[in-house]
Amino acid sequence: MNQISKKILFSRNEIQKRVKELASQISGDYAGRELVIIGILKGAFIFMADLVREINVPCKFDFVRVASYGASSESSGKVVMTKDIETSIKGRDILIVEDIVDTGLTLQYLVNWLKERSPNSLRICVFLDKRKRRKVTFEADYVGFTIDDGFVVGYGLDFDEQFRFFPDVYIIEQ
Ligand code: 5GP
Repeated sequence: MNQISKKILFSRNEIQKRVKELASQISGDYAGRELVIIGILKGAFIFMADLVREINVPCKFDFVRVASYGASSESSGKVVMTKDIETSIKGRDILIVEDIVDTGLTLQYLVNWLKERSPNSLRICVFLDKRKRRKVTFEADYVGFTIDDGFVVGYGLDFDEQFRFFPDVYIIEQ
């Protein structure tokens, strides 16, 4: 990120520690069960890959892709599904994994969409939670870190498709 001013918000070591804690909590909560983990593309792929390798209950995986942001840093408020899951989730225990919840519109849409398919249970795990920016009432079940306002990149999160590969999380300075 050459021309964009940024500062580290969470280092790879902090992230790794927190991901292990989340995985341990999830493993305890789902002991003796099998999970279907649904990742939201593209942003969640790095968090999901790290998380599931620390989870010690059996898991199956699927992905959805939704679009809400385009190239701008402000939500358009309109959520469109561009890739659906490919497995049946009826009667299954589902964990949605998302990079960040901001207004809550994306996850609200997705939860409603998936609940129509009668899972046994459905919980949400988000890496980052911008709690103060909600436009709808929405609570994630597992949260990596709660952050204030501001635009973050790295660890799967992009700005116009850049910076996803950064191992640390940065906040862009205005
Ligand atoms: P929501 O529907 O909750 O407003 O937005 C969720 C989506 O907005 C996330 O999946 C992510 O793609 C995007 N988003 C929200 N805040 C940020 C941010 O600070 N950085 C990045 N890179 N994406 C964000």
